[in-house]
Amino acid sequence: MQDITTFDFKNKKALIRVDFNVPLNDKFEVTDDTRIKATMPTIKEVLKKGGSVILMSHLGRPKGPEEKFSLKHVVQNLEKITGKSVKFVDDCIGDKALEAKKKLKAGEILLLENLRFYGEEKKGDAEFAKKLAEGADVYINDAFATAHRAHASTSIIAALFGDNKMFGKVMTNEIQHLDKALNASKKGYTAIIGGAKVSSKIIVIEQLLKKVDKLVIGGAMAYTFIKAQGGQVGNSMVEEDYLDTAKKVIAAAKENGTEVILPYDSVNGKEFDANTETEVTAADQVKDGWMGMDIGPETLVKLGDIIAKSKTILWNGPVGVFEMKKFSRGTFGIAQMIADATGKGVYSLVGGGDSVSALNKSGLADQVSYVSTGGGAMLEYIEGKKLPGIAAIG
Ligand code: AMP
Repeated sequence: MQDITTFDFKNKKALIRVDFNVPLNDKFEVTDDTRIKATMPTIKEVLKKGGSVILMSHLGRPKGPEEKFSLKHVVQNLEKITGKSVKFVDDCIGDKALEAKKKLKAGEILLLENLRFYGEEKKGDAEFAKKLAEGADVYINDAFATAHRAHASTSIIAALFGDNKMFGKVMTNEIQHLDKALNASKKGYTAIIGGAKVSSKIIVIEQLLKKVDKLVIGGAMAYTFIKAQGGQVGNSMVEEDYLDTAKKVIAAAKENGTEVILPYDSVNGKEFDANTETEVTAADQVKDGWMGMDIGPETLVKLGDIIAKSKTILWNGPVGVFEMKKFSRGTFGIAQMIADATGKGVYSLVGGGDSVSALNKSGLADQVSYVSTGGGAMLEYIEGKKLPGIAAIG
């Protein structure tokens, strides 16, 4: 493995796997360019040292070539952010792509078309990886958000570059910060895990129980835990198959000396609708015909106290249906309290699409210690899994 800060890029063509999976509106305009901006340090490092840059990424979930998922839609943003003209080729492999790579001169940027226009990308097809690698001298993986996938461009391709492979700066940063959060001392460590399903977060919850002092469980998940403990949850989203698991988590927490904190009160709605009628009850007394959709005000105050007294905070997943204003107070409140605590010296790491979007919407993204660019990848890293995109580099 090489180090991007010391590697000699002079006249080298660097093939960089980036994550340009950005949201687009109806006019195919990029509505959030955070991910494009995040790759600038890596791109600039290569250009500054006399290399050229070939960018490859996926965008959305196309079933084949589809206009709405074309990466040509990001060219304008990329040009604005880099301050350079960007060449685009409407394929990521084949003669056209190879020709464009060959013509590329030092200091230039080439963007290839969406990798997922080929099914081979997700299958991790070795022949496809070979075609992607053609015409490039060095491989850089800077796409942390897809590092948990063994796809052709994120993992299989790396072996084709011998020792000329390395992490980009997004990756290096992610690994450093996640390691810091993983190795933080248990005392004063609070993890706040929210979201829809226990099933998708159970492994990370089990891992965190060993590491953290306090584990706050919010979001729809909390109601499975509350029901498991005999609470009344009305029509709240509950995973019946996970009631036993929830009980085991509570028992394991006791063994590990970890305090599990569930919501004390709950903001309930009649329907899963933004304009529905609401009422606040104790979280274990949600009436039939109502569903728990956010943590209540008393919970928020108590969490504020816990957050303020923490040394390290890890947050993943919204604690309510934050997309609907009536049920967004808990999630935005937590974002604000984490930002306030960070200002007073707490180390805070936030990850997962929805928590990051809540931070961005409140303009607080630069007021926490680190915002992870990966949701699933971050969770798998914390779960202790070796991510294929990281393992492939070394
Ligand atoms: P996840 O992808 O697992 O992090 O889940 C995020 C989703 O969970 C968001 O779309 C939230 O609207 C949803 N969510 C959070 N709390 C609740 C709740 N109490 N009831 C239903 N959905 C929820």
